[in-house]
Amino acid sequence: MKTISLVIPVYNEEKGFRKFYHELLEPELKKLKYNYEVILVDDGSKDKTLGIIQDMAEKDSHIKVLAFSRNFGKEVALTAGIHEAIGDAVMTIDADGQQPPELIPEFIEKWEAGGEIVIGVRGKYEKHGLIAKLGSKLFYRMLKHMGVKDTVPGSTDFRLIDRVVVDEFNKLTEHGRITRGLMDWMGFKKVYIDYIYGNRLAGKPSYNFKKLFGLAIDSFISLSTTPLIIFGWIGSFITFASFVLGVFVIIEEFIMGDPIGLKWTGTTCLSIFISFLVGLVLISQAIMALYISHIHAEAQGRPLYIIDRRQSRNLQDAGKTKKA
Ligand code: UDP
Ligand code: MG
Repeated sequence: MKTISLVIPVYNEEKGFRKFYHELLEPELKKLKYNYEVILVDDGSKDKTLGIIQDMAEKDSHIKVLAFSRNFGKEVALTAGIHEAIGDAVMTIDADGQQPPELIPEFIEKWEAGGEIVIGVRGKYEKHGLIAKLGSKLFYRMLKHMGVKDTVPGSTDFRLIDRVVVDEFNKLTEHGRITRGLMDWMGFKKVYIDYIYGNRLAGKPSYNFKKLFGLAIDSFISLSTTPLIIFGWIGSFITFASFVLGVFVIIEEFIMGDPIGLKWTGTTCLSIFISFLVGLVLISQAIMALYISHIHAEAQGRPLYIIDRRQSRNLQDAGKTKKA
């Protein structure tokens, strides 16, 4: 019988997680005609989440707990769970009930029918404000320009990936990562399922705008060097434009004696240009610094995450258990 691995990142989910697992997820898993394992990655929760999921793992041999030594972020937690998974397919799902577990059989069906990456897409049935819509449009546009050609707007990390994809995914080592962006980059046969992103069962979302913006920047930078090239083009354009303008001023003012009456003063022109160019240099420097910081992080070769403890009732894991 084939095995399905569920990977769930959990961070400060003490209020809703038991309910999510026992009322929403477990009934679906029990219905499946597959073996299953559930890998819960505790991403350095500050509340009682770890104790709760350790207790659950003690009672249920399907559950395996990986506890990070601190918060490494959802993208890394997903990655760690995927590294750990042994299933023929790996399904990733949020711990807060916003991604409906009742669709899991549909994901598996599409996988059995040949889909190597089955992706949950939100948005089709949702009403969003104009700004949210524009923001996400812009994000996917940019992703497309940055070389991730087949990203469907609204793709989420509610998805199922085949073993082949998992093995390739596990070879990727970059630090600044958006898991779903990496998967989209990898290719493979993709199938899509539309779903409605529900409400949280309990607690608060821990992603805020600042975090998301940082993630977006990280992923653009790790995916391509296009930003560097864009600034090269802007720089060239400005140099060209100021050259043309300079020639115009020389001809208009000095050769023809200012027939239009613009009364240029050299200082005005100069100061405008200098501040403009200084701004440009600063921007391109900042972008360069971003790249260098990424190179720095990769060159350090630190592990992507640190596991504090593992827990599972399976004997084969006993040797790995550091602290119970
Ligand atoms: N999460 C995580 N580490 C974090 C933040 C979130 O593992 O630093 C988990 C969280 O427990 C949940 C999922 O990632 O299972 C999605 O998080 P959240 O609901 O905060 O984000 P959103 O629903 O806004 O995408
Ligand atoms: Mg959520």
